[in-house]
Amino acid sequence: MPDPPFRSTVHDGKEVVVEFDPSLTFECVDDCTWCCQHGVLLYETDLLELAARESINEPVTQARGRDFVRREPKGRDEHVGEDGAACYFLRDDGLCALHDEHDWKPARCSVFPLEVHVEGGDIHVSIRDSAHEHCEGLDVSERRVVDNLEAFLPELLWELDDPTTEIEL
Ligand code: SF4
Ligand code: SF4
Repeated sequence: MPDPPFRSTVHDGKEVVVEFDPSLTFECVDDCTWCCQHGVLLYETDLLELAARESINEPVTQARGRDFVRREPKGRDEHVGEDGAACYFLRDDGLCALHDEHDWKPARCSVFPLEVHVEGGDIHVSIRDSAHEHCEGLDVSERRVVDNLEAFLPELLWELDDPTTEIEL
């Protein structure tokens, strides 16, 4: 593998510029749920997909002209942030209701712990700063991120005017 940045092909000819160390591995750690303790950006396609599965009146909120899955107070001690809140869809058992019941989740949830931005017309992929600090799944397995980019980067990212993921509620 070359040193970053380098180009990699994902999804049949769709390219990204990889900015992270290709030796990086990732496996989500049971019971962590840190990345589900926040609001989640929804692209327009995500909103339509979510509406096809759930009522969106309660879970979806708007901020700065964008749609997000909102956070809500959970009334429990586990799987919550310091203020006791987490993503609307994060259940008491630490599982995502959307993933578990519909085998689907918003694109932004698949991308974490990566981060996507556009530079010179190319999609660039790096590791989110917050993941270095909080994600327990980095470098704990044999599963190299660079070999599994299609699992992190849904095809819909290439169809968007702005696939930037680091937009917070
Ligand atoms: S929608 Fe599901 S995967 Fe995404 S942050 Fe919420 S609980 Fe986590
Ligand atoms: S922060 Fe990392 S290890 Fe924790 S739930 Fe999210 S992806 Fe998994």
